Amino acid sequence: MALPLETLLDTVSARIISAADELTALDSAIGDADHGLNMKRGFEAVQADKAGIFAKPPGEALKAVGMTLVMKVGGASGPLYGTLFMTLGKELPENPSVADLGRALQASVTALKARGKADIGNKTMLDVLGPVAAHLESGSASIESVRALATESAKATIPMKAIRGRASFLGDRSIGHMDPGARSSEIMITAVCDVLEG
Ligand code: ADP
Ligand code: MG
Ligand code: MG
Repeated sequence: MALPLETLLDTVSARIISAADELTALDSAIGDADHGLNMKRGFEAVQADKAGIFAKPPGEALKAVGMTLVMKVGGASGPLYGTLFMTLGKELPENPSVADLGRALQASVTALKARGKADIGNKTMLDVLGPVAAHLESGSASIESVRALATESAKATIPMKAIRGRASFLGDRSIGHMDPGARSSEIMITAVCDVLEG
């Protein structure tokens, strides 16, 4: 399929920006109350630089988004989401199949695990990105099933104990709250599903 990259990015940006308060509230429970602010700053910068980003071919455009996120989001999530977009830019072929999307996302997950020294089950964004990548890689994922999996996976971080990131400082007190990065990943994946559904 041809990816409508600009529409995808506009929709992801708009959803993240309008969820800033919710993401910050989640981070206030188990972190330092800035995840929504960080992500909003990053995607506002992406929007401000759209002309420069979309003057490039698709792979380079995604890498440029990643660089902007690294520079503007800050915190733990900036380099991680930056790595995600940069890897997608490197790995996605021009007209990706669903399985290609899965492979590229899986490569991003591998890069992110290395970058954050984290794994699935540590109560992070990886707990949404990892299962969704694996599901897409099977090649038979429907949009509806991807959306449901993203939502279910973000919810599944609630009973987890954080092993990585700031929330891990809380130990057992991190249990009972949704991970903010898992929620922002869910929002992005849902936005992509909504655009691709048309
Ligand atoms: P900070 O924690 O530096 O304030 P943010 O609040 O923007 O950064 O982002 C926090 C989110 O980043 C967490 O909810 C978690 O999903 C993710 N995160 C933190 N550390 C890691 C890590 N080592 N690996 C993967 N994700 C991480
Ligand atoms: Mg934070
Ligand atoms: Mg912070």
